[in-house]
Amino acid sequence: MNEKKIWQKSRMELLQDLSCGDGGLTAEEAAERLRKYGPNELQAGKQKSVFRIFLEQFADFLVIILILAAAVSAVLGDVESTIVILAVITMNAILGTVQTVKATASLDSLKQMSAPTAKVVRDGRVLQVPGRDVVPGDVVVLEAGDSVCADGRLLECASLKCAESALTGESLPVEKELGEIPGDAPLGDRKNMVFSGSFVTYGRAKFLVTGTGMDTEMGKIAALLKSTEEKKTPLQVSLDQFGRKLSIGILIICAVLFAVSVFLRHENVMNAFLFAVALAVAAIPEALSSIVTIVLSFGTQKMARENAIIRKLQAVEGLGSVSVICSDKTGTLTQNKMTVKKLYTGGKIISAEEADFHDPVQEPLLRTALLCSDAVVSEEGEVGDPTETALVRLGEANGFDEGDTRQRWPRLTEIPFDSDRKLMSTVHQLSGGLMMVTKGAVDVMLDRCIISPQERADVERANEQFSNEGLRVLAFGCRTVESTAVRLEDETGLTFLGLIAMMDPPREESKAAVAECIAAGIRPIMITGDHKITASAIAREIGILTPGTEAVEGAVIDSMSDEELRQFVPKVSVYARVSPEHKIRIVRAWQDRGNLVAMTGDGVNDAPALKQADIGVAMGITGTEVAKDAAGMVLTDDNFATIVQAVKNGRNVYANIKRAIQFLLSGNTAGILTVLYASLMGLPVPFAAVHLLFINLLTDSLPAIALGLEPHTDAVMHQKPRPRNEGILTRSFLASVALEGLVIAVATILAFHMGLQIGGAATGSTMAFATLCLSRLFHGFNCKSDAPVLLTRRMFNNRFLLGAFGIGVVLLGAVLLVPALEPLFQVAQLSWKLVGTVVGLAFGSMVVIQLLKMLRMRFK
Ligand code: ATP
Repeated sequence: MNEKKIWQKSRMELLQDLSCGDGGLTAEEAAERLRKYGPNELQAGKQKSVFRIFLEQFADFLVIILILAAAVSAVLGDVESTIVILAVITMNAILGTVQTVKATASLDSLKQMSAPTAKVVRDGRVLQVPGRDVVPGDVVVLEAGDSVCADGRLLECASLKCAESALTGESLPVEKELGEIPGDAPLGDRKNMVFSGSFVTYGRAKFLVTGTGMDTEMGKIAALLKSTEEKKTPLQVSLDQFGRKLSIGILIICAVLFAVSVFLRHENVMNAFLFAVALAVAAIPEALSSIVTIVLSFGTQKMARENAIIRKLQAVEGLGSVSVICSDKTGTLTQNKMTVKKLYTGGKIISAEEADFHDPVQEPLLRTALLCSDAVVSEEGEVGDPTETALVRLGEANGFDEGDTRQRWPRLTEIPFDSDRKLMSTVHQLSGGLMMVTKGAVDVMLDRCIISPQERADVERANEQFSNEGLRVLAFGCRTVESTAVRLEDETGLTFLGLIAMMDPPREESKAAVAECIAAGIRPIMITGDHKITASAIAREIGILTPGTEAVEGAVIDSMSDEELRQFVPKVSVYARVSPEHKIRIVRAWQDRGNLVAMTGDGVNDAPALKQADIGVAMGITGTEVAKDAAGMVLTDDNFATIVQAVKNGRNVYANIKRAIQFLLSGNTAGILTVLYASLMGLPVPFAAVHLLFINLLTDSLPAIALGLEPHTDAVMHQKPRPRNEGILTRSFLASVALEGLVIAVATILAFHMGLQIGGAATGSTMAFATLCLSRLFHGFNCKSDAPVLLTRRMFNNRFLLGAFGIGVVLLGAVLLVPALEPLFQVAQLSWKLVGTVVGLAFGSMVVIQLLKMLRMRFK
């Protein structure tokens, strides 16, 4: 922009520069500008190209050694080995690329789903659009909790405060104001501007977009931003560590075997080297971490279809261990569809049907309800907070339009609602003077009203009666003020006008979801800003508040030390009138007891608690952008039942990852045991290098992925949550890996011996290779469950596994039976009898493992 900086310009100058008006752009203008300026996004952490992902598949230590081996074979004139090794490596790289691209694409689409949106004025109407579609010249509406998606100059501003720490490092929110700022002000002093990357902690505003994307202050430092690459999950980290240790062990074994072959058995150095490399490839589970990524990304797709959008991959893993779910009440456990049921005014309780705007006693209360509310109800639907839409609908039911009322007594200024203060006030020109009308939580309002003890007791009695019926109650008051410049301190000395009580019925699915939670060993807890009695009534109805547990107000824990709170939390199922600080302490207390805690939140102040929780869950519909940004998971339907469903998915995903790992590790163990056996017994080498490469890089990958896609079951919800620090590689898991590997190794060794006896070394090695390969394909079915599955319906319920098995059998069949492939894969021709023996032994290994599973189940 030209010499004079935008924060110094007058409003008119700026509108002229950007050729736009206060009323926003038209849709066509916005589309035109989007073409001109490009999407509103920072270009840090650019996407990798498919080719780059393909190349990265070769950046693995073992693959590099394989390439070297191929090169050496080429130099030595062994063209066949060279071709096969290169072909297998390339196939493996293609498979890896396809999986990575798919996984990244699904994670990207998830990110898009939870990407921030903005409220822009287009064609004179407020529209919700993706943040990336905002263009210079747009007028954007801001409310508490919104993230600011572009740089811009304020056009309107009501007590706006923005947190700009991402830009300026200043941790306290900055108060904003209209006006022109002279001189070359530093960023923090440009009070009339808002900046991309900050968020609104309080108030409302409208601003004119002056810069988007890389053309913002954030864009200037975008190069410094850390790349947005996904961090590894704890499971991936622990598997990587395990893999590294195992690799070192295996490399030592391979080196020893190489030395024995060359120096003691005087074998060809090249062959021995190739074999040692192949064995290392076959035994080192290099795919563990990537299998986890693939399975997690498939899991997140399923969750997204079921209304839970995962923002951090760690959350999927963590969901399986969740043992406490702290949930909001309004909108999560209840429908957030409020209907006014009762009123209290003039010392009397009346039903909503009896409300009468012409009654001089009721009129001030009912009028205040319409004035002190932002909701709009029109033919196109309802916009605004459901609590307020209920008030507006009460007016409409009685022939009073909120638009008319608000036009007659226009709002001059406001102090917006915030859930800490639990109040909202607006100032109007009323009956010759300025009048402030206030609504809010009953207990807070009563402390701000001038009211006799007798009247107060009556109001409290009415409030208790409403609350016992599970109704949500708001109190209303008013006072005259001197000027429109009202402050928080002015919300006192009010005249009490009455109460309005509304019904927010529990969601139909809440009760079943709570029961499912409890059966799964998870403790559901309600944490709400609402009144204790109202909260208790709802909590009792849906099964959260059970005999033996209690409901308390947040203030109760103020005086407790952390240790006292740790002892206290198990007794409490409902916390009412909580502040965001209470939420953090409650989460921490449960965590200190060794629990993994999921916590829901929607408001701007919930962000710290969402971050403190192991799994922060933000509301997609009613949640603020700030809450979504802090959360690991976003619910697109704001529904408690969706959290429980996500836990179920998380447990299933974890179980599937475990299956895939068990499959890979036990198969590798079988290969290693067979080679060690042959070496110790002084027998010929049981596999050619290409055999091991074939099994490990081709026929093994598909079943492993297929196991990661096992159909989910409800059975996981009949178990207790997995302890938070229990890894996958427990002793019993490794024991079963070893045992199953041993069984497959025995089948392979038997086949090897038979082959040796009947046709010598070549037949022996072909038999061993074929049996190991086919046993591992059968073993895929073993890994489906801890229980036996042989010939049950369960055995056939995963079409991916059936497909992977089919492809593996076809590939193996081709290698064994197509004469042209025999020299390439170094296999001898097998008689049909021997082929039958291979099938029998491989299937036999499966039967034995199934029997072992049966015994183990009995034993348990
Ligand atoms: P939850 O925390 O379960 O979502 P909640 O909606 O009751 O429950 P808050 O939004 O923090 O929690 O509201 C706290 C209290 O503030 C409510 O119980 C009510 O008394 C009052 N309140 C809610 N909405 C408004 C509003 N728009 N204006 C004035 N007071 C309100």
